[in-house]
Amino acid sequence: MKPCAYLRPETVEEATAAHVAHPGAHYLGGGTNLVDLMKLGVTTPDTLVDISRLPLDGVTPLPDGALRIGATVRNSDLAAHPAVRGRWPLVSQALLAGASEQLRNTATTGGNLLQRTRCPYFQDLTQPCNKRLPGSGCAALERVHRDHAVLGHSRHCIATHPSDLSVALTAADATVALYGPDGGREIAVEALHRLPGGRPEQDTVIRPGELITAVTLPAHGAALPSVFRKVRDRASFAFALASVAAVLDVRDGRVRHVALAFGGLAHRPWRARRAEAALVGAEPTAAAVDRAVDAELAQARPLRDNAYKTRLARNLAREALTRLVAAR
Ligand code: SF4
Repeated sequence: MKPCAYLRPETVEEATAAHVAHPGAHYLGGGTNLVDLMKLGVTTPDTLVDISRLPLDGVTPLPDGALRIGATVRNSDLAAHPAVRGRWPLVSQALLAGASEQLRNTATTGGNLLQRTRCPYFQDLTQPCNKRLPGSGCAALERVHRDHAVLGHSRHCIATHPSDLSVALTAADATVALYGPDGGREIAVEALHRLPGGRPEQDTVIRPGELITAVTLPAHGAALPSVFRKVRDRASFAFALASVAAVLDVRDGRVRHVALAFGGLAHRPWRARRAEAALVGAEPTAAAVDRAVDAELAQARPLRDNAYKTRLARNLAREALTRLVAAR
């Protein structure tokens, strides 16, 4: 067994200082993913910096109508929060589509965004995996890759990002607040995760020592019709084969605002900017939706086992947008 130090700081500043002072440290929130990876030997931190007691567990309405969500707010609490259910229902739906009730009671907002891929070869120490061990190869390329990416993948990694919440937050134009050795910064959730390129070991743009402190849902998408839809192999406790989060605002018969994001298709939540550009200003007819989604998915590069995902994503997006048009 590898020894591992455990620290429990009182403040965000103490947490980041502890992380910087202990090379090989990991932040520990709910631990629902990290502890599993430690048991498997995939992740072997020297130090755990427990952030679960930091004062980051509040959900705060802001004066401009936005909602600030602390990084340690539990997934169950966020899904049930009246403001989230009423004004950003896609976020609540995404949370309830993820994991099991027991896991949602423990998992945190920040930790949900930072889940590692569930690629089985990543979790299997006997298999080559560039994400786990850079330069070792990618077992998934030659083996079964039914669940893997169709968009944005590279010859170094074809894994998908597992967080449903990230997909919903991307469509909601949410931002994430980070605090690190160089101070604080705020970036779009859409910009948080990376495509694999030649460095699949790096899931996000988070810098060494930085900690997610909050997520903010902006006011402009609040109370617009929105939906999260997910297809998985079983009814619960399974990751997305494909998912879609959509926000739609139609005025005078034309699309005024649309946000569309896919999950289960890429190494990060995939914001469908081409589809959105094709729909803004158009009548939201079934034909217009099909053309827009097809324009987006023309970028797909399916692998031997997963061509079905492109069709599945197309059908999901069409169903989601059609449902929002009808809900006006
Ligand atoms: Fe590893 Fe990525 Fe290949 Fe899976 S797809 S084995 S995570 S390199």
